[in-house]
Amino acid sequence: VIWLGQAEHKVTTTCAYCGVGCSLDAEMKGSEVVRMVPSKAGKANEGHACVKGRFAWGYATHKDRILKPMIRSKITDPWKEVSWDEALDYAASEFKRIQAKHGQDSIGGIVSSRCTNEEGYLVQKLVRAAFGNNNVDTCARVCHSPTGYGLKQTLGESAGTQTFASVAKSDVIMVIGANPTDGHPVFASRMKRRIRQGAKLIVIDPRRIDLVKSPHIRSQYHLQLRPGTNVAMVSSLAHVIVTEGLLAEQFIAERCDDRAFNQWREFVAQESNSPEAMESVTGVPAEQVRGAARLFATGGNGAIFYGLGVTEHAQGSTTVMGIANLAMATGNVGREGVGVNPLRGQNNVQGSCDIGSFPHELPGYRHVSDTTVRMQFEAAWGVELQAEPGLRIPNMFEAALDGSFKGLYCQGEDIVQSDPNTQHVISAMEAMECIVVQDIFLNETAKYAHVLLPGSSFLEKDGTFTNAERRISRVRKVMAPKAGYADWEVTVQLSNRLGYPMNYTHPSQIMDEIARLTPTFSGVSYAKLDKLGSIQWPCNDAAPEGTPTMHIDQFVRGKGRFIITQYVPTDEKVTRMYPLILTTGRILSQYNVGAQTRRTENVQWHAEDRLEIHPHDAEERGIKDDQWVGIQSRAGETVLRALVTERMQPGVVYTTFHFPESGANVITTENSDWATNCPEYKVTAVQVMPVQQQ
Ligand code: SF4
Repeated sequence: VIWLGQAEHKVTTTCAYCGVGCSLDAEMKGSEVVRMVPSKAGKANEGHACVKGRFAWGYATHKDRILKPMIRSKITDPWKEVSWDEALDYAASEFKRIQAKHGQDSIGGIVSSRCTNEEGYLVQKLVRAAFGNNNVDTCARVCHSPTGYGLKQTLGESAGTQTFASVAKSDVIMVIGANPTDGHPVFASRMKRRIRQGAKLIVIDPRRIDLVKSPHIRSQYHLQLRPGTNVAMVSSLAHVIVTEGLLAEQFIAERCDDRAFNQWREFVAQESNSPEAMESVTGVPAEQVRGAARLFATGGNGAIFYGLGVTEHAQGSTTVMGIANLAMATGNVGREGVGVNPLRGQNNVQGSCDIGSFPHELPGYRHVSDTTVRMQFEAAWGVELQAEPGLRIPNMFEAALDGSFKGLYCQGEDIVQSDPNTQHVISAMEAMECIVVQDIFLNETAKYAHVLLPGSSFLEKDGTFTNAERRISRVRKVMAPKAGYADWEVTVQLSNRLGYPMNYTHPSQIMDEIARLTPTFSGVSYAKLDKLGSIQWPCNDAAPEGTPTMHIDQFVRGKGRFIITQYVPTDEKVTRMYPLILTTGRILSQYNVGAQTRRTENVQWHAEDRLEIHPHDAEERGIKDDQWVGIQSRAGETVLRALVTERMQPGVVYTTFHFPESGANVITTENSDWATNCPEYKVTAVQVMPVQQQ
């Protein structure tokens, strides 16, 4: 850390990285940030922060920042720096030209889960009111869209049930497909503290993550399943709970839908769902599964935490519903210490979903086909809204390739690096006539753009983020926007040019509009956020100071709904040609596609993506530690250096995707979750062979 001198004042804001949403104090000298320290008042982080939040904010002033708008008529042309007016006029005229030629539905927008709630709300409003369609989606599509779907179906609300502090009352902690130590470090510390105090731990993960065994932490069970078999695992855990008489009968009778429960009980009781029958599928010894199920059902308060290892699968939504089934079956919902807790990846992925950035939902998770809700928005926005859902991101790519989707407004997302099957994404981008990218850096997606609008970092704007525990926290401007405008102001100007005027002068007015139109946000205001520090939604007349624990007396949907979770093997099969399964994840010091952390000192702790491989698989292929290896899948190929480690199980390899040159998503396929199209990043059949140094 370079301590540049005594700070003159500080501004409390919220970390722009992961879904923990730590409250940070930006210590300032004049208009420069000299240090970022965790705020002791932050309820999500209690005075702690990780290496990303503390040290990785320097990207905001990095020399690579794009500070001038740029345009070009063809992606093979050089960029031309222009004024804001010229760039926005050009973008608006191109969108109008495309709609006149190809129809109202030929353009769309992507909301960023890195931007504020207010900015996301404006982008979805721009698409719905100014573009006149529902072709809006968010990067939650590629991470937690199955959470939104699965929890709504079972519990009635597309969000986690608890507050982070609740883990202090957990007796049994089940972590499924998540690596909190790297992905959610500050919450991981809280969880580990509880484990050191005596809570029992069950880890369900194909990889031997740090939580399985590290100093002072040892899991009671590590169910090291094969990638792609989560549904088989949750069904066999449920089988044990049902057939060994471990159900929370009274809770189920009082709180859950009888008919759905009886059908589910009959299904999971089938012998085909037993741990013994599923052993050949999951690869986990039946006795371990039985032990873990007994511990979870009888060990006291049981809390489930899960991550992208659950959602990014062909059956991602099914596993989310299976997890909710487990919680309801054991009575572990509706009080502190229990619950279903999705560990959200990006800082505002919960918020971007809350404010209506899915093509089928208006703010507050209300379907666009709901006439009453739609009429409310039509009256407020003064437009007629479409009742049919629009295109999801992968559908936008398909439509681009078939010639019906021609224009895209992409705010704060690098879809070329982060979405699966890079070649497919690039082909779709090349087929469009106008792509407007709004970003702080010239990212991989910008290579295919026609208009580049400089973005603003979290230090340059006011707004709010909503973390994984539904906590809305203030983002406060500590410096003027480097390129002249905050992201929300750019959206306003684009909308004005498209003939749909927006008249906001401060993001608080946007939040006031969200509150007026969204029942779960009706009690939220900047004044209340300043007074309380942060607020967990729902916040309304029934809960004026917010809701730390949901579903206390009854589920949001009324009766909890058990759903049958039939295991269906993924289409992505290992063969003689592709005998290993590749799964992907993240490392502590880097963040997603690395656009920010690669431009900070964090890069010294982790300078490249590596391929983790088990010693047996490495030896069989003559691969030594540190050696360059080629990885080939049905979608493509790339080259990485090997890391030979027993963290992996034989037959499974692993890498991260923080560096564009490693091209991890060149090899991931287009398979996706049946309900939400969330990509199956976690299962790709590959071959790995040694290659010469690059
Ligand atoms: Fe907190 Fe996550 Fe930011 Fe780390 S990256 S400081 S855990 S919000």
